[in-house]
Amino acid sequence: VPSPGRRAIRELPDELISQIAAGEVVERPASVVRELVDNALDAGATQIQLKLMAGGVRAIVVEDDGLGIPLEELPLALKRHATSKIRSLDELESVATMGFRGEALAAISSVAEMAVLSRFDGAPHAHRLDARSGELQPAARARGTSVEVRELFFSTPARRKFLKTDATELAHCVEAVRRHALARPDVGFTIWHEGKLVEQWRAASSEARLKDVLGEDFMAESRPVFAESGPLRIYGRAGLPEAARSRADMQYVYVNGRYVRDKLIAHGIRSAYEDVLHGHRQPCYVLFIEIAPDRVDVNVHPTKIEVRFRDGREIHQKVRYAVQDALALSRSAAAEAPAP
Ligand code: ADP
Ligand code: MG
Repeated sequence: VPSPGRRAIRELPDELISQIAAGEVVERPASVVRELVDNALDAGATQIQLKLMAGGVRAIVVEDDGLGIPLEELPLALKRHATSKIRSLDELESVATMGFRGEALAAISSVAEMAVLSRFDGAPHAHRLDARSGELQPAARARGTSVEVRELFFSTPARRKFLKTDATELAHCVEAVRRHALARPDVGFTIWHEGKLVEQWRAASSEARLKDVLGEDFMAESRPVFAESGPLRIYGRAGLPEAARSRADMQYVYVNGRYVRDKLIAHGIRSAYEDVLHGHRQPCYVLFIEIAPDRVDVNVHPTKIEVRFRDGREIHQKVRYAVQDALALSRSAAAEAPAP
């Protein structure tokens, strides 16, 4: 029972501020994976390799062949609110990168052991910065960056207890990469777990990437979606009603290249299926929505998964029609097909 007396107001120490903030960004190994892959993509990587141990709890190493970080900026990369991606409020409105809060590396390093190894474009060699000790040493590496994260939540055992089995955490990590991989067929992704190859998606066309990541069955049981009106473009693939599943685990929506979970869009898609899907059957789909950046706010949540549209009603309707058209097309095609 708290005593009736009050405790004086105190400013929290920086370390604790970072740990509290980290709670919003880093929930489990997959959150780390998402942030590190975001960074690799922002750096222009064409090949991204992940090496995981114990579902990512023991270790997550993400290696990319991007631009790298100049030696003199390495310590800054780990600081809170330090970013190379925006400079001003108006840049925030038009930001095209995946991250810009300058928070991820700082947050991760407050709840795990972390080292960043990078060789900037044109630099004679790489450097490795250990987050805890601040030690900076020359290292060997081709152009690009490796971020090593070990012993996630070692200092916050309460949080570590919430983690599931290694297999479950690994599945979440793979899913985090899958979400990126669907949107970036031009980038190769490789995932290793405990030294074993788990997934390898080579750079390919969008169509080939969808097939690689979601499987041939999905391709056979889905139809292309395409709708365009002014600057709004909706494309991807919508699963046929017979491909619906009991779980909503094959539903991918991207807004301007960013994976999002949005109730409005999900509802728009769902309503396209209303006459053909019954009960709790869940449709499968991958939809890419491209929209003028000033019509959408993708920054409403630190995990960057929620969005807010200026013209929600219009988006809802366009999404619904686009999916309906794709499904109707397949129905009429089937009806017109000659009898075997
Ligand atoms: P944000 O991505 O929001 O800027 P982060 O904490 O994720 O914040 O990263 C801080 C900065 O470190 C980035 O702005 C970027 O300049 C640099 N950085 C991080 N990861 C990489 C990487 N893989 N390649 C190149 N630069 C990186
Ligand atoms: Mg980032």
